[in-house]
Amino acid sequence: MNALIFLALTAPQAHAWQHTGMLWNRDVFPVPWYMSDHETKDLSSDYQVDVLDTSINAWERDAPCSELSAEYMGVRKGHWKSGSSSSDLLNTMYYDDPAGQNADEAIGVTYSMPSSDFAFEMRDPYDPTVTNFYYYTSDSDIVFSANYTFYTTDDVDQGLCQGNGYSIEAIATHEFGHFWGMDHSCGQDDVEAGDCNDPDWISATMFWTGPNCSNEANSLNSDDIQGITALYGPFATFDVAKGVDKFGGVPLEVCFQLETKGVDEAGGDLVIEWNFGDGTSSSDSDPCHTYTEKGQYTVSITVTGTSDSCGEYSYDYRKPAFVLACEAPQPAVDFDGMFSYEWVEGNTYQMLNQADLTVYGCVDQVQWDVFKDNVLQQSVNAWAPKIDFGAPGKYDIVLNLGGPGGVTAEGLTLTVGGEGTGCSAAPASASVGLFGLLLGLGAALRRRRKA
Ligand SMILES: [Zn+2]
Repeated sequence: MNALIFLALTAPQAHAWQHTGMLWNRDVFPVPWYMSDHETKDLSSDYQVDVLDTSINAWERDAPCSELSAEYMGVRKGHWKSGSSSSDLLNTMYYDDPAGQNADEAIGVTYSMPSSDFAFEMRDPYDPTVTNFYYYTSDSDIVFSANYTFYTTDDVDQGLCQGNGYSIEAIATHEFGHFWGMDHSCGQDDVEAGDCNDPDWISATMFWTGPNCSNEANSLNSDDIQGITALYGPFATFDVAKGVDKFGGVPLEVCFQLETKGVDEAGGDLVIEWNFGDGTSSSDSDPCHTYTEKGQYTVSITVTGTSDSCGEYSYDYRKPAFVLACEAPQPAVDFDGMFSYEWVEGNTYQMLNQADLTVYGCVDQVQWDVFKDNVLQQSVNAWAPKIDFGAPGKYDIVLNLGGPGGVTAEGLTLTVGGEGTGCSAAPASASVGLFGLLLGLGAALRRRRKA
């Protein structure tokens, strides 16, 4: 008995509601949809459209905290003759599979295409180490099979459905779940593996299959409602205010702008908690914050409130590494200078770059300039190049490093001409004016102190 309880508590919840990774952008609501004029003989012409209208809207009707809307746009005459469901950006519903697209045993199939428009990322509700990425749907068509007989909801209620018949409303409500972005609560594989052991998952509209002649799936259960509300319920995101930079040198002031959807901002009980990632927070709706320490900062918000349709809700959103605050490039800990070098062979030396890279992105430009008698000999854009000086002599080497925090240049003089001088270094002075001109940035020369 104890062992059973232990299992129940620790079994991974891998098979409750799932998403396809596609959803409709609320900016395109109501989502338009069309009928092909390839009708099924099972149902009257009017009913064929009406039942789909009911089914697509079931997801808003039964999950009122979800902000969903769709609008029927009419029949596409003769469209099915040109072939099949396709990514023509017109969401079209087909009866009797006119192009023979579905596998024989599939009662209905939803064909959805993502756009390249990134919607958001969501931490997987069952595995917090996994992040799921969502894109906006560009086109979604549903094709109902010709191999089954479809019955009206009333006929199913009255026991007139028989044999291998199905409630079209039940099938369509499931398919429109896919249309909106829901995946199966449990798939066939999960069931066969014994992983689908919660009655809510099996009774969900989004269970992978359903019984004959049943209206059960016409309405959503709690699992379906949770899943669709995660997609279309209260949602908040943010960006930087217009014209504000989120990459720059410290102190870096960043002004944020909250964007909410399905959130009642006028309700008065909306609470917004910002976490700026550096240990500070704010409850303003559009705060500004000054970062004083270099770093890459993950910014997050928690929005909580209540509304008539949602009751109490809470929504978290985070953008990893959203703000980058930098200092001008400087030597890494344990180094006094920005670079040193080692003799390799002949007139070739290995440059050793010692710049601090602890904050990713704070050094994004690198250039080595080699001067002889104040004349530029060569420039190399590489992190730590081998430089062939070509001939013995005295050279000034300047390393220029740039990033969001500014530019640093540092030089030294190297006497080329033998192994013995390979490790000696003296501060450069000859090239002070030159690299400033080359970069056009007026950077100051930082003198290398011999370690
Ligand atoms: Zn399905």
